[in-house]
Amino acid sequence: MRRGDGQTIAEPARSVPVYGSCDVLVVGGGPAGFAAAVAAAREGADVVLIERYGHLRGLATGGLVFWIDRMTDWGGHLVVAGIGQELMDRCGQDAILGPPRELWGSGDKEAVAYWGIRASAHRGVVTWAPTVDPELMKCVSNDMVREAGVHTLFHCWAVAAIHDAGRVRGAIFESKEGRFALLARVTIDASGDGDVFAAAGADYESDFDSQTIHARVNTSFRFGNVDMPRYLDFKLNQASEHNELLRRGAAAGVELRVHATAYDSVALFMTPKFSGYSALKVADLTAVEFRSRDAMRQGLAWFRAHVPGFERAWILDTAPQVGTRHTRRLAGVTRVTLDHWRASGRYPDAIGLCPGLTPEFPTLEIPYGCLVPQRLDGVLAAGRNLSADPPSHNPLREVPECWVMGQGAGLAAALAVRNDVSLRDVPMSELQQKLRRQGAVVDPPA
Ligand SMILES: Cc1cc2nc3c(=O)[nH]c(=O)nc-3n(C[C@H](O)[C@H](O)[C@H](O)COP(=O)(O)OP(=O)(O)OC[C@H]3O[C@@H](n4cnc5c(N)ncnc54)[C@H](O)[C@@H]3O)c2cc1C
Repeated sequence: MRRGDGQTIAEPARSVPVYGSCDVLVVGGGPAGFAAAVAAAREGADVVLIERYGHLRGLATGGLVFWIDRMTDWGGHLVVAGIGQELMDRCGQDAILGPPRELWGSGDKEAVAYWGIRASAHRGVVTWAPTVDPELMKCVSNDMVREAGVHTLFHCWAVAAIHDAGRVRGAIFESKEGRFALLARVTIDASGDGDVFAAAGADYESDFDSQTIHARVNTSFRFGNVDMPRYLDFKLNQASEHNELLRRGAAAGVELRVHATAYDSVALFMTPKFSGYSALKVADLTAVEFRSRDAMRQGLAWFRAHVPGFERAWILDTAPQVGTRHTRRLAGVTRVTLDHWRASGRYPDAIGLCPGLTPEFPTLEIPYGCLVPQRLDGVLAAGRNLSADPPSHNPLREVPECWVMGQGAGLAAALAVRNDVSLRDVPMSELQQKLRRQGAVVDPPA
């Protein structure tokens, strides 16, 4: 193929049919968009939720990122609850790998060792960081949007924003029915990539922290027919042999990290993570898909030959959604910074919490302002396209925080519509009160 190098063709102008209009349009059905849609609908708004794939919960299901990061603080208090925790409760214990409530915050050495190798203990503390069956999460998410009365449309891709005079009024989608418009009083951009606010001309940032995994990309996968109890026993009781095996694997070009799941025969891999790619470029996304599957095939052969419990493993599946950690971040009214977080983490317009990065860090109050564009009206950004500096974006893009932002955005949108006020003028005390009523945690534990 010869590249176009700036060459263009003119498409004929056309009228686009209006599919419908609603109070709140949510673009993207990932953790943030799902929570936003449910929260807004439960508050009585007429909500349309649009998703480009055929299932809900974005990377947390379709990206096979089904280890949900910490929802408890270092003292074991549940600081992320609301719609996210409701989803966990409804998935049920059989589908979840995670410590019982009475162990949250425990420093007991045996419990920490047991849960540490199951990704639910960090820095000597047992945490609520569950690993959940992604297929069940899709089903329960379907139940929750249906029950809330959300009008959900799958297989539609937002390609443009409808906006004039500095105000977003909906979005245009491509689908098997062709191109159509959806008009909305408020639009929530939960695409993860800021597709809608960028198309509407909002300012955004795209710099990233190249020293960490912040912008690394990969396609996750699972191996089946694994003897996970045997592998975990090896990891726990023969730690030095296990570490030596990892070193030998790395020397052989295999950089896979095993993640335990709710099922004894299934292992999850969210590795290896590739740097130097943009998740907004199709050639880069394609290269990552190829490289991830090459690494998976090579890894399977190595694991079968060397790793206890993997002798008869096979590839169970690969994620249909490429794992994207970072693309665009809104330039918002409030930009969360690591310095402020370290100093106090307090914000007057908190919509929820994020546990401190280490026991020395305070719990962060996530501000509503990080969802509100500096200039544009009629649109909020929820989820990993929030406004934050790169080091604070890294933890804030995790699934629990995306639930928090989604629920906050959904409720704010419903209140703005009901009270006929601008999104930037939503009364904070009312928003916080409604969030508490919906089961969210807004106030840091005393
Ligand atoms: C490999 C990897 C490992 C990770 N590990 C963890 C982990 O262990 N624990 C954790 O808590 N977090 C983890 N994360 C982070 C977390 O998964 C994501 O940051 C989180 O899912 C973001 O949620 P979101 O709703 O903002 O966006 P997404 O989950 O990206 O959801 C966005 C949704 O919008 C849809 N969409 C996008 N563009 C359009 C469009 N134009 N039109 C219509 N629909 C659109 C997408 O299909 C998707 O469903 C990881 C991320 C990656 C990539």
